Amino acid sequence: MVILLGLVWDDRFLEISFSHPMIRDLSKQRIRKFIEGARRTLSFVEISPEQATEEVLKEVHTEEYVKSLKEVSKIPYIGFLDSGDTVHYPGIYEDVLLVVGSSLVAIARSKYIDQIYVPLGGFHHALPGKAMGFCPVNDVAIAVKRLTRSGEKVAIVDVDAHHGNGLQEILYRDPVLKLNIFAYNGNFFPGTGRPEERGEGEGANLNYNIGLPLGSGDDVFEESLSFLDLIRDFSPSYVIVIAGVDGMKDDNLASLSLTPYSFHILGKKIEKLQRELSFNVIGYGGGGYGECSHLGMLAFLAGLSKLSLTSVGVDTTKTVTDPSVSHEARRRMDKLRIRT
Ligand SMILES: [Zn+2]
Repeated sequence: MVILLGLVWDDRFLEISFSHPMIRDLSKQRIRKFIEGARRTLSFVEISPEQATEEVLKEVHTEEYVKSLKEVSKIPYIGFLDSGDTVHYPGIYEDVLLVVGSSLVAIARSKYIDQIYVPLGGFHHALPGKAMGFCPVNDVAIAVKRLTRSGEKVAIVDVDAHHGNGLQEILYRDPVLKLNIFAYNGNFFPGTGRPEERGEGEGANLNYNIGLPLGSGDDVFEESLSFLDLIRDFSPSYVIVIAGVDGMKDDNLASLSLTPYSFHILGKKIEKLQRELSFNVIGYGGGGYGECSHLGMLAFLAGLSKLSLTSVGVDTTKTVTDPSVSHEARRRMDKLRIRT
């Protein structure tokens, strides 16, 4: 079986960031460094997105919210959509449509391409009626709802420093397996993601909040990936992976202490399961605000492509977690396993 990798790309991505003005440059730089590195080291099919329509946004977002997004897009200066994280700027509405269009083209092309990566995507904090945490739209929720409506069985692996509260809330009652791996201490943004939240209705027992203690390194992260074995029993036709790299140790929003090694094994594990179960993969770039964030993204794709870390120019030593932190991480994971 030859697995083909597709990458959704448009040069307009180089100028798009919904992050706080303090880190907008870093987040744009990440996308630029990523595409330069990807073109140099990986082989993939490039896929062009088209703008989505207003109706598509309304599949998940409220009429009032979509209207307000359109209105702020006409204001000739930068402001905030929420209480101080997510920016609006002239033309943001068109950028949001392009971001959502990336998911639509990924779904359309996934009929022919086994793995598709959307570097500028994975805005998992946005709620139906409001923007949150640098996320003006929940592109992943729109994609997952579309897939399940067309009869696909979907599993989500949401890896990021932050719990995907919006995605969890929107899909809480849907028959979608959700494996959320993030930094958790009850306070750290967005503060959600309690292990007791296991889903309701058709989504009962399908939501897993694998909240790792702050400071967890590559060894703990690798252990948490054992939860991906649940994908085998669920047997999905699609696995959606948010591979957010803001848990890397050099990130400005420091929380976890990961290196590209973690994202490489994440990619490798997904590829192995894909080979075994023959599902489609759609991956998203998620968050990342450090000088080396792009290396985490390249490492993930190297893992998916069965390439070594060094082949994408990454030379890394795996981080080892402080024993008291890894003890706490293991305690939490064991508790979650007992609950299942
Ligand atoms: Zn994040």
